[in-house]
Order: sequence, then C-alpha cells, then structure tokens
Amino acid sequence: MSYVDEVIEQVVAQNPAEPEFHQAVKEVLESLRAVVEANEEVFRRDALLERLVNPERQFKFRVPWVDDKGQVHVNTGYRVQFNSAIGPYKGGLRLHPSVNLGIIKFLGFEQIFKNSLTGLPIGGGKGGSDFDPKGKSDREIMAFCQSFMTELCKYIGADTDVPAGDIGTGAREIGYMFGQYKRIRGLYEGVLTGKGLSYGGSLARTEATGYGLLYFTDEMLKCNGKSIKGATIAVSGAGNVAIYAIQKAQQLGAKVVTASDSTGWIYDKDGIDVELLKEVKEVKRARLTEYAAARPSAEYHEGRGVWSIPVDIALPCATQNELHLEDAKQLVANGCYAVAEGANMPTTLEATEYLQKNGILFAPGKASNAGGVATSALEMSQNSERLSWTFEEVDGKLQNIMVNIFHNLDDAAKRYGMEGNYVAGANIAGFEKVVDAMTAQGIV
Ligand code: NDP
Repeated sequence: MSYVDEVIEQVVAQNPAEPEFHQAVKEVLESLRAVVEANEEVFRRDALLERLVNPERQFKFRVPWVDDKGQVHVNTGYRVQFNSAIGPYKGGLRLHPSVNLGIIKFLGFEQIFKNSLTGLPIGGGKGGSDFDPKGKSDREIMAFCQSFMTELCKYIGADTDVPAGDIGTGAREIGYMFGQYKRIRGLYEGVLTGKGLSYGGSLARTEATGYGLLYFTDEMLKCNGKSIKGATIAVSGAGNVAIYAIQKAQQLGAKVVTASDSTGWIYDKDGIDVELLKEVKEVKRARLTEYAAARPSAEYHEGRGVWSIPVDIALPCATQNELHLEDAKQLVANGCYAVAEGANMPTTLEATEYLQKNGILFAPGKASNAGGVATSALEMSQNSERLSWTFEEVDGKLQNIMVNIFHNLDDAAKRYGMEGNYVAGANIAGFEKVVDAMTAQGIV
C-alpha cells in the first residue's frame, strides 16, 4: 500500500467519529501524492506524514457560565495546537453548537497549509466551543468569554499561540476575551488578533478575508483571460467574510445577487445593497427577512438555494460542506466558470472533483481565504512594533500577499504537471515550506 493510503487509513482508524478531519486529511494527502512519492523513502523513515497529521498538542476543557436567570450552563472548550514548524500557532476560535474535536482538528490541519501559503511566519492551530452565541445577551456572551479565557489563557501567548475570530467570534467576543486575558495574565500583548482599533487592532482586518478573496479571484481570472468586471456573482453567507466579499466584488465592477444565513437566502436582482445587509446583520444581528422587507428588488426564500441562480462566479462564504454535488452540477449547467471558497471547506470533495473535471476555475479556501490570517499576522507585527499602519498600507500588503499566493500555487501545480489544479498547487506550496522547516528542526 502506498504511504499516503497507509496514513489516511491510520487517521480514520485512530480518530473515530471525526468525519470532517478525515475529509480534510484525505483532501490534502491525495493531492500531495506526487510529492510524497518523489520523496517516499525519506518521508517514511522520518514518519513525516504521521507527524503532520498528529497535532502537537490539544486541549479540551470545561466552560461553566451563568445565564441572566441565574442558571448555570456547561460548554466544552477546545484548542488544538497543530503545527509550529514555521511560527507560533495561529488560527481562529469558532463558537457554534456544531463544534466538536473533529471539526476543530479539520480546521487546525487546514490552517497549517493556509498559514504557510501566506509567506508569513505563523504555524497552524484552531479552537472554539459548542457554545451558541445566538439569542444571548451581551452579559451572557461576556460571562461565557471570560470563563472560556480563564482556562485558555494558560496555553496561549503572543509568542506561542495567537487565536483570532471565526464563526460566532467577532469583535465583541475578542474584546471580552482580551480583557480577561490581560486581567489574569497581567500582560498587555498581542495575544489575540481581530481586536478593536482602540486596543491594538489592525485597520483592514475586518475586511481582510472578504477583500482578500476578491484579490485572489481577480488575479486567478486575469491569468485565465477573464475579468471580474461585469460578472454576476452568487455569494453564500451573510457574516464577516460574505459581507466584505460582496463589497469588494462590487468595487471591482461585479454584480452580486445572493446572500444567505443559516435559515434562508435572498436573491436581489438589482444587486445586493451592502449597506443594508450590514445594517441587518452587523448592527441589528437580525434575519435576512428584514433585508427582503426593506428592499423591493429582493426575494427571500427559506432553506438553501443560492447555487440555483445562474451566475458567472460562485463564492461560498458561510460554512463547511455547503456546496454539494447537485449544486456543482447546477452551477456548471448554468454556465458558471469560477468557484472561489471564502469559507473553510465549503465545497464537498465530490463537488470539487465535478467542478474541476468540468473545467471550472476552482480556488480552495486555504488559498483564497488566507487574507484574514495574513492580516492577523500583520496585526501581530504592528503589536510587536507598538505601531499602527494605515488602512492603505495594510490593504496594499494584503493585495500583494493574495497575488503572491496565487502565483505560488499556480507555479507549484505546474511543477508537478497539474497545471490549473489549484487545490493540488495550494497543498503542495503550503506543504513544501512546512516540510522543509520540520526537517531542518529534527525529529520533534
Ligand atoms: P460569521 O459567523 O460572521 O458568518 C457565518 C455566516 O454563515 C452567517 O451568515 C451564518 O448564518 C452562516 N452559517 C453559519 N453556519 C451555518 C450553517 N451550518 N448553515 C448555513 N449557514 C451557516 O463567520 P465568518 O464570516 O467569519 O466565517 C465564515 C466562514 O469563513 C467559516 O467557514 C470560517 O471558518 C471562514 N473563515 C473566516 C475568516 C475570517 O476572517 N472571519 C478567515 C478565514 C476563513 P447566521 O447569520 O444565521 O448565523
């Protein structure tokens, strides 16, 4: 049996009931087959793949907190420190009822390669909790965040592990967590990114993932003789990534006609009014029905369906496994020519394969959504310098980073005879740097 297949089998056997983690490992290792085969003897001897798929460290802890009625709740907190070969662990904190160890491991594993692709010195990690922030008061959110950080603060630090936001963890939650870290550890340091501007945050961090997705997509299209200008785009999600992806797409001359949340979706034939969307989702934290009620050109539908609208480009920006094989078939049938992932692993493996086989330009999230973590690393640099850069400076660096990521993975795919396969290119380019650092640092 090949080394790749052996390690995939081991991962499935040793990590039962973690299907998302299996899926992520399979996706990455399958596309690294050519690189692994070219170095099989050394990699096997050094158990390189086994070391790569086993986190360096993982924490699971109790998070008790009291609601507004005096009732105590107990959630589970996680932090997985996956790989520190190229820098301190870096990766977000997800607060969502679906969170479990397998999901955090899938995200942490993907983060290793994504962080490597940015070209910045950051290792891979991820964390979170099964706490559901929906419907909670500000005081309840604070109670949860303080309890969560009371335990987490033992394992993180500006030079060891620097968490950030993710689904359910926005500026408010980062603020409460930062306050509690400072209170317990007595350190004013860049231990979290995505902070508010008044206490060490970076300009353009809020916009970074969505903007970065569009900078990447723009470069990918240009290099394939296409243009974003004048294109019609479907976006899923209505959170941080989706909102700023929509904004930048419009600035680049495209028309975005959809957005969605966990209960329904909107089709706005005149193009999404991004200010109204921000008002509904960021300010009021309300449902998309409110958007449709305020905008005559928009229709609201329950359930899922954004991929049924005929578009040129699809940008899945909500969550994992939200673009299925049937959706991929519909997109292709409707003439879509590019799919770029804003979320982490939103496209299932079958859907990805179908899109690639049908000649769709497909950008994997670990490359196309790396703008968020890249700007987080720029926030770390500013914190270390105790300086703040201007919006234009950060945005300019972000743009360069995204363009470089595209060319790195394009080159890597070409080197291994897989031109145009950006999934393989991203995994190979991310992997090569991590392997080089792991090998140089010996068996650790
Ligand atoms: P947010 O919490 O701001 O938004 C998530 C959006 O997706 C919301 O509209 C939410 O709907 C919807 N959603 C969440 N879970 C589901 C579900 N199970 N089914 C359908 N819709 C769902 O998160 P972000 O925008 O920050 O993150 C979105 C994705 O991008 C995630 O995969 C995240 O890991 C990834 N990502 C985020 C980065 C960042 O910088 N923020 C960086 C890189 C990747 P509702 O409003 O109803 O909750």
